[in-house]
Amino acid sequence: MTDSPSPSLVDITSLAKRRGFIFPGSEIYGGLANTWDYGPLGVELKRKIKDLWWETFITRRSDMLGLDASIISSEKIWATSGHLTGFADAMVDCRTCHSRTRADHLIENYFEKKGENKKVEGLPLPELTKIILTNKIKCPSCGEANFTEVRAFNLLFPVQLGILAGMDNTAYLRGETAQGMFTNFKNILDSTRVRLPFGVGQLGKSFRNEITRGQLTFRTVEFEQGEIEYFFDPKTQNWEELFEIWLAEMKHFVTDSLGVRAENLQVREHTDAERSFYSKRTVDLEYNFPFGFKELWGLAYRTDYDLKAHAEATGKDLSYTDPTTEKKFLPHVIEPAVGIDRLLLMVLCNAYWHDEKNNRVVLKLLPKLAPYTVAVFPLVKNNPELMDQAKAVLSDLSPHFHTTWDDRGNIGKRYYYQDEMGTPFCVTVDYQTLKDNTVTIRDRDTTKQTRLALDKLAKYIQTQLK
Ligand code: ATP
Repeated sequence: MTDSPSPSLVDITSLAKRRGFIFPGSEIYGGLANTWDYGPLGVELKRKIKDLWWETFITRRSDMLGLDASIISSEKIWATSGHLTGFADAMVDCRTCHSRTRADHLIENYFEKKGENKKVEGLPLPELTKIILTNKIKCPSCGEANFTEVRAFNLLFPVQLGILAGMDNTAYLRGETAQGMFTNFKNILDSTRVRLPFGVGQLGKSFRNEITRGQLTFRTVEFEQGEIEYFFDPKTQNWEELFEIWLAEMKHFVTDSLGVRAENLQVREHTDAERSFYSKRTVDLEYNFPFGFKELWGLAYRTDYDLKAHAEATGKDLSYTDPTTEKKFLPHVIEPAVGIDRLLLMVLCNAYWHDEKNNRVVLKLLPKLAPYTVAVFPLVKNNPELMDQAKAVLSDLSPHFHTTWDDRGNIGKRYYYQDEMGTPFCVTVDYQTLKDNTVTIRDRDTTKQTRLALDKLAKYIQTQLK
């Protein structure tokens, strides 16, 4: 079996739509930019990825706790965290066709086409304007070099609460889940018996008014994050070591839990301009998406910046008291933050396989990630005995595995359909089943069919899932 060349984004987008993983948002009304809906298979895959993340980083660890903070949050939180003023993308407008583009992406793409790898995120706005003007960079939509100067556009979504006229009831959809961990820090200390070092993790939606298009679910206005704030005492714990441990955990999750090929990963150190002023070190774990190596998972050492800022703004004591020395201090924090939608997109890209020999497209998902684990088919639809027996097999397997049923078309077409959905096992009930209680089980990747006794079927599938 040979791996086909990496799929294009068109391959992925069309399979995702064809088989019900991802649909364009608001499609029947002409679509809404940067929004996507997860279809019947997408929602299963996403749920499995999130469950794995939660099990790996929360449930199976005694030093981790979970949280589910509110999406709508006080304006004051975002003022303190710096998001109200500093959470902005540098944008330019084309004076000719009026399209708006992210300045850093415009410049980086320009240099990438010339074979140069230039990172400009975080540079001062006048400097970005200068680079665009001196290089006479052209608008990707109309081809004219006629841009405005670069301006900052805030990414937060305001929402109006209540109906009281004349009062400012502005709150915000959270721009990251992380702030919930800091604003609840005291509640967590007071309601649990945790000791440093410990982490708080959260899975949930975040919102950013982003405008970049054309990369499927890579960059959307509404997305799901899995963020961890790992609190520690900087006097007793070496942050550099902790940082490396977390980086290794992130890579391990991607390669071992999600089955992604390690050669498609790279770690990129943030430049000084790009790194937040309070962060001592930030790296991005990047995946080689069809549009190049891009951020999948960020890892940052945020010091005690956030707890300190919230303590100062609220006057609340957010310190931790060491139980042995009774010393009070603000813990420092390391933050691994991942986008679940990017994990899912990566999993789809990694699994996509054009099997040229058998002329089929296969999603070689790890069996534990596949939306359906087993498909059950009666060989033909018009034989009541076969149908009854196949339904009995389905109901035997359903309590143990995520199953699906198909009795349409011929067996070859059914296999083709299941291969594209990533279903690892197809069980066919045929005439021989009626005689000797055996069925065929077909392996998605090898297409090999094995005949098995019905009473051995569940055990066989179970062992393959490990
Ligand atoms: P980028 O540089 O790609 O805009 P970021 O550095 O702003 O990302 P973080 O604030 O570190 O991202 O968020 C943590 C993770 O959340 C990212 O690594 C990414 O996987 C995910 N993420 C951020 N913005 C988006 C988005 N607009 N759509 C989908 N996922 C996102």
